[in-house]
Amino acid sequence: MSKPLILVTNDDGIAAPGIRALVEVAETFGEVIVVAPDSPQSGKGHAITIHDPLRLKKVSVFEGIEAWECSGTPVDCVKLAKHVILKDRPISLCVSGINHGSNASINILYSGTLSAAMEAALEGIRSIGFSLLDFSFDADFEASRFWAGKVIGYMLEQPFRHGCLLNVNFPKLSPQEIRGIRLCRQANARWVEKFVEGRDPGGRPYYWLTGEFINEDTGDDTDVWALENGYVSVVPSMHDLTNYTVMKDLSDLESIG
Ligand code: MN
Repeated sequence: MSKPLILVTNDDGIAAPGIRALVEVAETFGEVIVVAPDSPQSGKGHAITIHDPLRLKKVSVFEGIEAWECSGTPVDCVKLAKHVILKDRPISLCVSGINHGSNASINILYSGTLSAAMEAALEGIRSIGFSLLDFSFDADFEASRFWAGKVIGYMLEQPFRHGCLLNVNFPKLSPQEIRGIRLCRQANARWVEKFVEGRDPGGRPYYWLTGEFINEDTGDDTDVWALENGYVSVVPSMHDLTNYTVMKDLSDLESIG
């Protein structure tokens, strides 16, 4: 059997320690190609670049691994990887991360890490976004590596053929403290935004986004619950944003004309 081809990307940039941890795990399973942003792209969601040219540069960042840095967004990276670098060679798995910071719950919508993985899923590729609940640059990825390896191994063995996306988050705990893995739904939480106002040297006002994560969804089947209780959370996610509940409520809409 040929070795699986694994595409690795992220949104924190190719120099982030989190992607290095993920490359080291992925290369134990197959051939790895890295295509990642040349600068931090957190919070870019599913943005793509259409009014500027995109640049790709082959770099030696990971020993023995083909790696490219890209001037675009995380989603640009996946599109270029598939259509330009790999020229439609079949990709067995796309892994994105390991993000420095949580992408549980509503964060999936803003996350470049998860949007890159979602883009791969849209292309019919099975795909996993990994995040650690630690924003710091020198976060400890030891437990994340172990569990990322478990999830990657499991997904490579699945016989199904369709694309899919898993949103995997790791609690900020040591390997001994992590209690296991939970298959979850996304907690229905939200951010309450706050803008800190300041003045630039020219005296003009500027606004700096900050906020507070509010979760009133305390179900023990949610990702936030799992993470708060020492588990790795795994949420199978999808791009279909149709609101089926409201669709039923509006069933007589077409008769108004
Ligand atoms: Mn990030």
